[in-house]
Formats: sequence, C-alpha cells, structure tokens
Amino acid sequence: MSASYLNDQRFPGGLRTGAQYIAGLKNDGRRVFIDGEEVGDVTSHPAFRDAVRSIADLYDIASDPANSDQMTFASPATGEPVNRIWQIPRSVEDLQARRRAIARWSGATFGLMGRSPDHVAGFFVGWMSAPEVFARNNNAERAENLGQFFDFLRDRDIFVSYTIVPPQIDRSKPMHQQDPADLYAGVVEERDDGVVIRGAQMLGTGTALSDYVCLSQVTPVRPGDENHAINVAIACNAPGVKIYSRRSYAAAASSAFDYPLASRFDETDSLVVFDDVLVPWEQVFVYKDIEICSDQWWDTGSHAMGNHQAQIRLCSKLQFLMGLAKRIADMNGVAAIPAVQTLIGDMASYAAMLEGLVEAQIATCTTNANGIVEPGRQALYAAIVLQAEVYPKMLNLMRELCGGGVIQLPSSARDFANPEIRADIDRYNQSPGHSSEERVKLMKLAWDLIGSEFAGRHDQYEKFYAGPPFVVKSRMYQAYNFDKSQALVDAALAGYDLTGRHD
Ligand SMILES: Cc1cc2nc3c(=O)[nH]c(=O)nc-3n(C[C@H](O)[C@H](O)[C@H](O)COP(=O)(O)OP(=O)(O)OC[C@H]3O[C@@H](n4cnc5c(N)ncnc54)[C@H](O)[C@@H]3O)c2cc1C
Repeated sequence: MSASYLNDQRFPGGLRTGAQYIAGLKNDGRRVFIDGEEVGDVTSHPAFRDAVRSIADLYDIASDPANSDQMTFASPATGEPVNRIWQIPRSVEDLQARRRAIARWSGATFGLMGRSPDHVAGFFVGWMSAPEVFARNNNAERAENLGQFFDFLRDRDIFVSYTIVPPQIDRSKPMHQQDPADLYAGVVEERDDGVVIRGAQMLGTGTALSDYVCLSQVTPVRPGDENHAINVAIACNAPGVKIYSRRSYAAAASSAFDYPLASRFDETDSLVVFDDVLVPWEQVFVYKDIEICSDQWWDTGSHAMGNHQAQIRLCSKLQFLMGLAKRIADMNGVAAIPAVQTLIGDMASYAAMLEGLVEAQIATCTTNANGIVEPGRQALYAAIVLQAEVYPKMLNLMRELCGGGVIQLPSSARDFANPEIRADIDRYNQSPGHSSEERVKLMKLAWDLIGSEFAGRHDQYEKFYAGPPFVVKSRMYQAYNFDKSQALVDAALAGYDLTGRHD
C-alpha cells in the first residue's frame, strides 16, 4: 500500500498517548475560525484547549498498559495492541468487550462528549462489516480504498469526525437544485490525482479537534444529486478546509468551579466549508453513486454500530444525572419524602429503560454473511426514538427536583474570596453535613448539566444527533418486527367468525 496519507507525519503509529494526540494537532495548519478570528493553535486556544485535553485523557486511558485487556486488541495487520474502538466484532463477546471499552471512555467524560473518537470509529467498523457494499456497481477499487484506510485509522489510532448532513439553507429543494449548485459540499472537478470538493456541510461536532473528517450524506440523495453522493475522508488540515466553530461555552466559562462541564467537555460544533479541497483517490470510498451512498448506512452495520456507541455513551450521561439527582435530594433533606422518591423513580425508570435497550441490542445481535456481528436493530432504533423524548423529560424532572437551588448561587467562584460575601455564603448556602463550598459546587455542577448554555446544546444534541425525530421514527418503523404482530392478529381473527362464536 502506498497511499499518501501514510506519509502524514502527525501520527507515529500504534496506540496513541494523549501527548501524541496533542502533538499531532498542534499547529498542524488547520484553519479554524471563531469570534471573527482565525484560531491558529487549537491546543492552546481557550475555546478548544480543554476539550483537546479531555480527548487526550481518553487516549491516555486507552494506551495505559494497565488497561490493555479492556481497551485494546491485537491488530490483525501488525499483531500490536491497538485501540478496541477499531475492533470488528465477530462474536457477542467481542460486542460486549467493545461496550465495556466504550463505557470506560464515556464514564470519563460523563457521557458529555458525543463525538469522542469511538463514535465515527463505530461507523467505520460497521462499513468494514460489509465492504462488498462499496464494491457494488463495479467499484471494487473503492472497497479496497476503504479497507486500506481502515487499517491506517486502526493502526495509527486516528480521530475522525464526520459531516453527513448538508446545511439547512433550503430544504424544499434537492441538493443539486440549490442555488448556486455548489452550496452543499460535492464534487466540482475530477483530476488524475483526486477529486475537488466545494461547498459546505453541517455540523462537524469535534471536527476542530479531530485529525480527519469524513464527508458523506446520510440525508437521502436523489437522481441528479450524484456530485453529492460520495463518501470521502479529508485531513482536517488539508488546504481549503475551513472550520467555522459556533460560540464557545468553554471560553465563556468564568471558571471550572462555575461551569465544571462546559469548561472541560465543550467538544464544539462547526460548519465545515470545503473550498476546492483536493481529495486523493485513495481517500474516496463512494463516488457519485446514489445507490451505494444510501446502502452504506443500511446494508452494512455502520448506522447500527455508530449509534450503539452513542447509546452506551448516553447511558453514562443518564447514570451521572441520576447520581446528581440522588445527591441533591439527600443534601436538601428531601430524599425520604415519598413524592420526591416518586420523581426520582420516574427519572430512574427512563435511565434503566435506555440501559436495558443497550443490553437488548447485544442480546439480539445478528451475524451477517461475513460472520460480523452487529447490535439488534429493533432495540437500537427504539432507543434512538426514545432518547429524544426521554432526555428532555429527565432534564425537566431534574429541574423540578432542584427548584431555585440551582439559581440561588454565588455569582462566581470569586465571591468566595470576599470575606464579607463569604460569611453570608457560608451561613446561607450550606446544608447539614455540607459546607457552603460543597453545596455550591454540587449545585453549579447540576446547573451546567441541566440549565447552562452547554446544557441546552446537549438537549438539542440528544434530540438531533442521530437525525430529526420524523426520520428516526420511520427507521423504527422499518426495524420493527411486524411478523410476530401480524401472526397475533391472524390468530385473533382466526378464532371467531360470523357465527359469533369463538373456537
Ligand atoms: C448538537 C448537534 C450536533 C450535531 N453533530 C453532527 C455531526 O457531528 N455530524 C453531522 O453530520 N451532523 C451533526 N448534527 C446534525 C444532525 O445530523 C442534524 O441536525 C439532523 O440530521 C437533522 O437535520 P437538520 O438539523 O437539518 O433538521 P431538518 O432536517 O431541517 O429538520 C428540522 C425540523 O424540520 C421539520 N421537518 C423538516 N422536514 C420535515 C419532513 N419532511 N417531515 C416532517 N417534518 C419535517 C421537523 O420538525 C424537523 O425536526 C448535529 C446536530 C446537533 C443539533
């Protein structure tokens, strides 16, 4: 294999440490913009540096020899230990091992980094479960590209984000009828050394922090949209890639004490503009093929594997939320009140339901013709539909539980430094067994999960990250096993007739 990405000096090869991840990102030439300015180095800019640190912590967990059983497996190419996020599951045990590794990572971020490196890795693993899908319509070379690129991702532990939805602009028209036609990211030129991509794509979560961005379409592509019916991998520092970040919650955080979550886990979301970006042919996996562009999600395990990771991650977040609910009820002295237990019980039922659905995905996993295992789709799509409804409900119940306690708080950590203010905080912002510092710390943590701007973005994230609700419900419709239901209806109908008697 002689692909040009193998010469990318940012990645040493093998399991990456956090320090190696940061070194690869530092001043790598990527163009990230925020607040009217170009960022320069994301590893030191206040909008990005702490999220970079949080991702680095994940790489440190995976590369720590003490965690190797849980977090690694042997690369089929090199025999060396590599990150388990790249393991293609061949048994239910492999799926369970993947789950434990993903849960270890999501526990470290309290489920608050949706696009940590294991998310898009899940999609690539799923694509590799049925690479022949990419070879359809005489595209054997593209399937080979995918396989070789996958080896590169796995053996160098690369962080990939993805942009698979075009910007809203005008949803009444198909992609190619946007005005001008190159608004949505797509192919504008074919050259001997690759294809040229122009246009924009929403919404690159973590793209500012990742090594590569995968550009494709999960939104349906129609005849005429061929230029957009692609799947390509692009280095985030490739000439012409421009990453426009939304407002930073991390940079706006007055301190880690005031915004303990926003200050650490703001993974950032960006509009990604491809300004005549040359993508070498070996990084092209789907090319102007409407059929494969759609089939890659549903005829392979990609959508299932990627979203299975997302569900495992969500479970960590819900466990965290439940822990906060219990701690606050205890601190406020209301935990023994039956009505409060009912409220927390309500929340717990949602958390337990989603955890049960992850278990069910593993228990009902299926094996494809290549011997690759994927999570059961009925439970998977049920979880995707329900999470969008359950998460806001849980936030609402948590707000009910917290009352004004998450608002009646010192304006910032600086209030503690003023002796006069501190004396009143100590007197009026404490609870039995909890100093003022402990109480304020816990309540500010809760607010950052349920009420801050960071929290609002998470609410929107859980609603939309897997697609809009009307789309995911139609996926559920397709995944549901109607055979059993129809058999029951047939049995009921067969049991009586016009005589008015049951058999
Ligand atoms: C925080 C966050 C992070 C994200 N991260 C990523 C990422 O990393 N990578 C990525 O590619 N994408 C990401 N997304 C984008 C996400 O995939 C899209 O938001 C999602 O697919 C929905 O598309 P849309 O936002 O354009 O909504 P639209 O498709 O425009 O729909 C918005 C609303 O319009 C209404 N509507 C539109 N069309 C119809 C219809 N036909 N029938 C009924 N109602 C309709 C519905 O109310 C719908 O909810 C992210 C989104 C969020 C919010």
